Amino acid sequence: MRAQGRTIGQGRTIEWYARGDISMARTMTAELRFNRDLDFKYGVLQGVAPSVRRIVARNPGPFTFHGTGTYVIGYGRVAVIDPGPALVEHIEALVDGLRGEIITHVLVTHTHRDHSPGCALLRRFTPAPTYGYGPHGSGRPGADDQTVVEEGADFDFRPDITVRDGDVIECDGFRFECVHTPGHTSNHMCYRLREERALFCGDHVMGWSTTIVSPPDGHMGTYIASLERLLDGDDRTFWPTHGAPIPDPKPHVESLIAHRRRRVREVEACLRDGLATIPEMVARLYHDLPVKMHPAAARSVLSTMTLLVEQGDAVREDAASGTDALDARYAPADPDARFRGSG
Ligand SMILES: [Zn+2]
Repeated sequence: MRAQGRTIGQGRTIEWYARGDISMARTMTAELRFNRDLDFKYGVLQGVAPSVRRIVARNPGPFTFHGTGTYVIGYGRVAVIDPGPALVEHIEALVDGLRGEIITHVLVTHTHRDHSPGCALLRRFTPAPTYGYGPHGSGRPGADDQTVVEEGADFDFRPDITVRDGDVIECDGFRFECVHTPGHTSNHMCYRLREERALFCGDHVMGWSTTIVSPPDGHMGTYIASLERLLDGDDRTFWPTHGAPIPDPKPHVESLIAHRRRRVREVEACLRDGLATIPEMVARLYHDLPVKMHPAAARSVLSTMTLLVEQGDAVREDAASGTDALDARYAPADPDARFRGSG
């Protein structure tokens, strides 16, 4: 979300000694580079790789870049990944581009409104079953109340077939391996096309920007762990929903991990310097970001703060008062740390 279209932290080496639920100690070079090129035309299903086609929905925005990229895999009997927002013209253009072909599977990476609502519209044209982890919030432990109002979430989507990590979805001549990658949402699923060593990674990893991790359904500790998981794969290309494909994805994933860890340390430094509220921290850490993006930045700082509280490195000072965590006051868990400053 930060530094859209800019290159930041080039060549900086990050030393990170991890504890708590961030379990690996690594040294890595943080070269976080973003790619804002995208070759596309709205409303047209275009071939982007030998067995991959993509059509971009006209829902551009600060979090969607040019819009949602709906992928079609195979020819003749095809799988669709993320039908996208509830935009009739987008679904009609997709169906139009697939004239004479049959949709056999509809895969959903997660339940944000720019990804899953198109399933209901697509149902008018095809009985193909939908696949996904589950309804919004279903990957979060103890969260079965759907009363939470969460901006951007699609609470209506229910996959016909629920899938779990490691499940294999057999299509016509190709297959997907499900890779559960909670963090952006708790039900986020990536789909690996083994034959092509391609990972359809939804919003988990993007090449044009970082990903929003917004509590309660977004969770920073889980997000970082889900990034680390991808380092074990042998994928040749990542295909995010928004923006261009990412070739040779591992260095990019490493730089994303380093970026998140750097943010954790920056928030810790804010606490040590006596900054107690999230708005104060946003003002310091995101001073170069347009003010209209500050609410989103606040969600991101909140997710980092939640991680620090969970790890026992920070405390909520007014936890008993029931204030929303976004308005709460925070302090280092070790009271002496506050007076040491961040150096
Ligand atoms: Zn999303």
